[in-house]
Amino acid sequence: MSTQKHAFQAEVAQVLHLVTHSLYSNPEIFLRELVSNAADACDKLRFEALNNPALYEDAPDLRVRISFDADAKTLTIEDNGIGMSQEEAIANLGTIAKSGTREFTSRLTGDQKADAQLIGQFGVGFYSAFIVADKVIVETRRAGLPASEGVRWISQGTGDFEVEPIEHAERGTRITLHLQGDAAEQFLNGWKLKSIINKYSDHISLPVQMEKEEWKDGEKEGEPGRMVKTGEWETINQASALWTRPKKDITDEQYIAFYQHLSHDFAPPLAWSHNKVEGSTEYTQLLYIPSKAPHDLWNRDKKAGIKLYVKRVFIMDEAEALLPSYLRFVFGVLDSADLPLNVSRELLQESRDVRAIRDGNTRRVLGMLEAMAQAASAKPTDADVTDVTDKSDASKTEGAQANAIPEEEKYARFYAEFGAVLKEGLGEDFANRDRIAKLLRYASTASDTVSVSLADYKARMKEGQKAIYYITADNLAAAKSSPQLELFRKKGIEVLFMTDRVDEWAMGFLHEFDGTPLQSIAKGAVDLGDLQDEEERKAAEEAAAQFKPVLEKLKQVLKDEAEDVRVTTRLVDSPACLVVKDGQLSNQMARLLRQAGQ
Ligand code: ADP
Ligand code: MG
Repeated sequence: MSTQKHAFQAEVAQVLHLVTHSLYSNPEIFLRELVSNAADACDKLRFEALNNPALYEDAPDLRVRISFDADAKTLTIEDNGIGMSQEEAIANLGTIAKSGTREFTSRLTGDQKADAQLIGQFGVGFYSAFIVADKVIVETRRAGLPASEGVRWISQGTGDFEVEPIEHAERGTRITLHLQGDAAEQFLNGWKLKSIINKYSDHISLPVQMEKEEWKDGEKEGEPGRMVKTGEWETINQASALWTRPKKDITDEQYIAFYQHLSHDFAPPLAWSHNKVEGSTEYTQLLYIPSKAPHDLWNRDKKAGIKLYVKRVFIMDEAEALLPSYLRFVFGVLDSADLPLNVSRELLQESRDVRAIRDGNTRRVLGMLEAMAQAASAKPTDADVTDVTDKSDASKTEGAQANAIPEEEKYARFYAEFGAVLKEGLGEDFANRDRIAKLLRYASTASDTVSVSLADYKARMKEGQKAIYYITADNLAAAKSSPQLELFRKKGIEVLFMTDRVDEWAMGFLHEFDGTPLQSIAKGAVDLGDLQDEEERKAAEEAAAQFKPVLEKLKQVLKDEAEDVRVTTRLVDSPACLVVKDGQLSNQMARLLRQAGQ
């Protein structure tokens, strides 16, 4: 059989161009990406072998090996994972399966460090090999196929690649990089490679090995000594899954590196929580709260970034059953001791253990948020904000010191990035609605920053005030200039500004807070109760009587536009305003629905 030439998909060619032209100043990330692919391939083999142990052939010990040849200027990364068939090699290394390439390219910032993170986030890590290599050779055989069905894939990283069938006795993938000038000097060095692997791949749960080298003195007088390979492989990473190690043995740097591996986020997380939970169902959870929203947070099908393991065997990414969707910004790992190894997504939805895990994860995340929120408020107001439901764990704010953002600013940061997502929880998670309500923050007539909690508001309520007042609007400026605020301003009654698109919908699920009703000032006749003095009430009644003929006329003229026209005391300077009948969609909601084409 002969060699076939294939053109790269247009997007790949574009990514290759970008990668080689914009990431050359941070070249070492190629190793992170290739080792991470090798580890993924081993995870996939382990998973498929659950149902078909023959796939292990006679090599059950999975590992990644890195070697180099300084004379030939080659660096080789080899794994005995799942490997690829010919079709898979063509599809996986010649096209980009995941959508969003255009987004990837549009998000490149020119900041090479940040851009290097994007590579992993958008599933184009393999192509980073071409940052350092002018030729890449992939030799691979898929587990379960005969040795004769090996494949060799070769490309110089320009317009096309070649594929040919080869004999390949060992299962898995060997990637040989022909390093170009600078890169050859930089990376063909055992010490350098080890330090990169330690930096990026320490938490990888299988052994990453390099051939041991020994110093050998020159044989004759004057001949220089040199390092020589011994033929023996040594494991250079920790090679144990990070979450299985005791907390006290894990440094903040290791937790952060693991987060960055999971999330492809360049910034450190705001907080994390690592717990072994025992009880009716046993599991280990390691959950992180990012400091930055991912690019796809608003995708309707964005899944929670939780990887599911069962007894340390990787089962699936994005296990959406493990967290409610309003917490989809969380990254982490869940390792269950009880679920069956062959658990499917469908089964997960029905499992009682999974429900318990999901509840436990939800409580844990809310607990982390509460701890951050508490650190943000100078004087803690609520005593009941710490999570005491999981007795197995005593810590609440681990990882708190690990971020450059000061403790008291973290919650504001979190809220700016994810507050709008959290609000979805009001409609989605009735059991935790009160806890979520306590985490909400708004700007108001008393605060320009989004920092007023419902409890703060209550504490400042006027004598005789019976409701928490709010107004929804497209943005802060629109909220502030609303004529409906006039009377409240005059009387010094605080009004919360709700300016997220989700607010209107979310408030449909939150009718009261701690016994006090929440009321939109854009709805119905706002009853200020005891706050309205007798004189005002009288004046309004008199005005209503006096203006009766005018009102009748207005009603007549506006009969197709307005349901009612009445005299109000809510305005101070403006002559008129629109309000919505109680129990009806507000202006803001109606506008949103119109925008959505409803
Ligand atoms: P991602 O890892 O996000 O899927 P990459 O560009 O890193 O994106 O890799 C593309 C695909 O190539 C992988 O999804 C996988 O199918 C395949 N692949 C890459 N490296 C290996 C490997 N060592 N063994 C098997 N398949 C691999
Ligand atoms: Mg990858």
